[in-house]
Amino acid sequence: MSTLLQLQDLCVSYGTVEAVHGVHLEVNEGEIVTVIGPNGAGKTTLLCAAMGLLPARGTIALDGERILRPSVEAMVARGVALVPEKRELFGEMSVEDNLLLGGFSLWRRGQRDQAQRMQEVFDIFPRLRERRTQMASTLSGGERQMLAIGRALMARPRLLMLDEPSLGLAPLIVREVLLVVASLRKLGVSVLLVEQNARAALQVADRAYVLEMGAVALSGPAADLLHDRRIIDTYLGLG
Ligand code: ATP
Repeated sequence: MSTLLQLQDLCVSYGTVEAVHGVHLEVNEGEIVTVIGPNGAGKTTLLCAAMGLLPARGTIALDGERILRPSVEAMVARGVALVPEKRELFGEMSVEDNLLLGGFSLWRRGQRDQAQRMQEVFDIFPRLRERRTQMASTLSGGERQMLAIGRALMARPRLLMLDEPSLGLAPLIVREVLLVVASLRKLGVSVLLVEQNARAALQVADRAYVLEMGAVALSGPAADLLHDRRIIDTYLGLG
C-alpha cells in the first residue's frame, strides 16, 4: 500500500502559542483514516495546516514527494480536497449550481466532464439528485453535509479531508453520511476524517489517531481502538 499523505513532525502555532506539536500522520492509498480527540485538541488546526491553509513547520508530503511551499492551490493541484466544518455552501444557489462551483477545475476539460461528474455525485448521494433544483439554504442538515461532500468530490480528489462532518446531525444521519464517506474508497478516494464523534468515526475508519493537547496520544487500527479500555473510558462512554 503506497503512502498518499505524510505529515512529519508537523507543528502549527497561532502567534506565540503552539497548537500542534510535532505530529506524525500518514494516509495510505485507499485508506479511511480518522483523527479523534476532545474539543481544542488541535484537530481542525492540523487539517488546515495539512491543506496549506495555515503555515506549519515540519514536512507535508504527497506520494512521497515533499511539498516545498504548501498552499491550498498546491494541494488542490495534487488532488486534495477539504470539506470545512462550516460547510460553506451558497445558500441562495441550487444544489446543482453549488456542485458546478465545486467542479470549476473541470471547466478546462469541458461541460461533458462536469455533467458526468455530477451524475457520479448523484449516484453517491441519490437524495441530492431528487433535490437538484432546490436552494441549498432549504436543505436539511444531513443534506447540506452531503452537498458539501459532493461539491468537494466534483474536483475528483484522490484525498478528501473532512472536518467534523457529523457536527449538528442526528445519530442516524451521522451513520448514513459516514458510511457513504467510507464507501468512497471504492471510487479510489482516500479519506482523512476529523471527528469528535469517536464511536461513529472508529466504526467506519481503517486507522485512527487520537489527538490530545496538540499531540498524538495513541494511534492504531480503528477496530483495536474501539476496544481499547482508555478510549472506551475517555471517548466512548457507556453507549
Ligand atoms: P474542536 O473539536 O472544538 O473544533 P479542535 O480539536 O479542532 O477543537 P482547534 O480548533 O484546532 O481544536 O484548536 C486547537 C487550539 O488552538 C485551541 O486551543 C484553540 O483555542 C486554538 N486556536 C484555534 N484557532 C485559533 C486562532 N485562530 N487563533 C488563536 N488560537 C486558535
